[in-house]
Amino acid sequence: MTEHAGIEDLVDDLVTANHILYNEGVVDGFGHVSARHPTRPDCFLLSRSIAPGKVRAEDIMAFDFDGNPLDARGRKPYLERFIHSEVYRVRADVQSVVHNHSPAVIPFGVTAAKLRPISHMSGFLAGGVPNFEIRDAGGPATDMLIRTPQLGVAFARTMGRAAFALMRGHGAVAVGDSIRQVVYRAVYAEQNARLQAEALRLVAATGGGEINFLNDAEAAGADAANYANMDRPWELWKMRVAKPT
Ligand code: MN
Repeated sequence: MTEHAGIEDLVDDLVTANHILYNEGVVDGFGHVSARHPTRPDCFLLSRSIAPGKVRAEDIMAFDFDGNPLDARGRKPYLERFIHSEVYRVRADVQSVVHNHSPAVIPFGVTAAKLRPISHMSGFLAGGVPNFEIRDAGGPATDMLIRTPQLGVAFARTMGRAAFALMRGHGAVAVGDSIRQVVYRAVYAEQNARLQAEALRLVAATGGGEINFLNDAEAAGADAANYANMDRPWELWKMRVAKPT
């Protein structure tokens, strides 16, 4: 495969990921997904500032880790690109990043309820989900957006080695070693949040008790089993967003 074909295939997958995340309810008019540049590991690919469901190949821009576009050509970048740049800078294992505001995850960033793996599809949530408090880095009067490199650094520090992190009063970030894996994680983190809230309601309705979460060994085992089948949900989600030919 030539270098040129390599980046075209990655851009195609990134466009598809934008459409899947919209179709699966992870992003709406807001949110974004990026991929590390295939031949320049100190750069990443991210759409210009438009709704993910509308992204096309010509909207994909390349950025360095300071968030500067390499070739803007009049295209306006997302304000929150520093989430992506600062995570790539410190996480050599990360090839793709999703930032979203999907509704079910938000309550877990603003209450004492901890997001934990409730089913075998979300073992990647084991080990604790960090929650970024923007007031710690930006003070009490931000607009909640990670709009500077400094806030991006603070977010990446909070995220640490995690697969998924919450942002208090804002949303979440998923990372992965491929576009397919990060889409999987973003979709199933949202599903886990819905299921966990439902389980909490059942616990309350049935007079108490505790949710029986996956233990760490089960979470790791289930995550490895699903990792071997990462193409299966991707192909299905891709089929749903395919244009008729
Ligand atoms: Mn945001």
